Amino acid sequence: MICPKCKKVMEKVKVKIQDANSPVTSYQCGKCGYFDFEEKSIKKAINEIREKETLLRIKQKIVKLSHNRLGMYFNRDVARCLGLNSGREIYVSVPDKHHILVDIGK
Ligand SMILES: [Zn+2]
Repeated sequence: MICPKCKKVMEKVKVKIQDANSPVTSYQCGKCGYFDFEEKSIKKAINEIREKETLLRIKQKIVKLSHNRLGMYFNRDVARCLGLNSGREIYVSVPDKHHILVDIGK
């Protein structure tokens, strides 16, 4: 797998996603930081997550931000549940047309 941004060979890394039994194969570029999941393994992980009981499910609206960007809040319960704070770096992936996967790391 070659990095689409800088054409460097990316490192193949198995990552453990919370609530998924199988590790997910990801590709990481050591040069520019590009990160992507292998489609097959992320789909498997999502199916495993779906099978388990959802810890927290909250209906929210997308909000409009400046410069035609859209945003979503993490409400207090979600932030507390996950220990999120401002400035935290997260990975956002789009595994299919119905999901946004936010990997908050450890
Ligand atoms: Zn790269």
